[in-house]
Amino acid sequence: MRIDLHTHSNASDGTDDPAQLVRVAAEAGLDVVALTDHDTTAGWAEAEQARPKGLRLVRGAELSCVCPDGHGNSISVHLLAYLFDPDHPSVLVEQSRLRVERRERLVKMVTRMSEDGYPVDPETFLDRLPADLPAGRPHLARALVEEGVVSSVNEAFVKLLNNGSRYYIPRADTPVEQAIAMITDAGGVCVFAHPFARRRGRVVAPSVVADLAAIGLVGVEMDHPDHEPADRELIRGLAAELGLLATGSSDYHGTNKTTPIGAETTDPEVFDRLVAKATAVPVLGC
Ligand code: AMP
Ligand code: ZN
Ligand code: FE
Ligand code: FE
Repeated sequence: MRIDLHTHSNASDGTDDPAQLVRVAAEAGLDVVALTDHDTTAGWAEAEQARPKGLRLVRGAELSCVCPDGHGNSISVHLLAYLFDPDHPSVLVEQSRLRVERRERLVKMVTRMSEDGYPVDPETFLDRLPADLPAGRPHLARALVEEGVVSSVNEAFVKLLNNGSRYYIPRADTPVEQAIAMITDAGGVCVFAHPFARRRGRVVAPSVVADLAAIGLVGVEMDHPDHEPADRELIRGLAAELGLLATGSSDYHGTNKTTPIGAETTDPEVFDRLVAKATAVPVLGC
């Protein structure tokens, strides 16, 4: 039984479309795959349609949240949300707030660039983006490539859109406490994604995991490509102490990252306990 609980399609920043992703999962010999695109459930329907017989599909998302870091500051974290009702009112309200916030923030970035003479127009920039899309820097990067300002999306990030740039404005993400309450209300379960991925930057203090466990977090990602062996052991201990489920997953992004699908997996017993806590949306293929 091979279970990968964290993958991205091109509904966010992966390269496989959701139909390809479920085929790739089956070809890699997975029995269960979770589709967890960043801040969207837009890939669910296509993955459902294309799901090969014999592959079980967990519908989920990876939510960008702001969280206390346990040292008196705040930090951006990722929360894996599984098997929640995407039409629950608290989910819909927060999604529309985020969409508006993201669009306003992009317009502010575009305004600053336009004032400095870049060929982007704050009046019309949003017109080209579908209203239901979580708009972000990748869209601005593509516009800069189209205008010939830079030759690639990556160059746009490196030169103009990285978080040290004068054009960068942070997003107003969901507070993690609110995200856990919202997903729990919507019948789903939350797992803290790669909490100690130190190679990506600062991470939370271990006490934060305990604080989140106390307000409804059910699991913590342990086996993840960005976790060092010592941190996996730290998480194993924390999970045992706090009664959290310790999962494993590849964080597959197609060709945008080198990790193959199924490179890290979740124990079947842990998976069964996770599913037993969800009440809204079934695992498909059971
Ligand atoms: P935003 O949500 O608007 O802050 O944009 C964040 C997204 O930008 C992330 O999901 C990444 O996929 C993407 N991103 C960040 N750095 C790069 C890069 N160097 N090249 C391409 N995409 C990037
Ligand atoms: Zn990603
Ligand atoms: Fe993540
Ligand atoms: Fe991810």
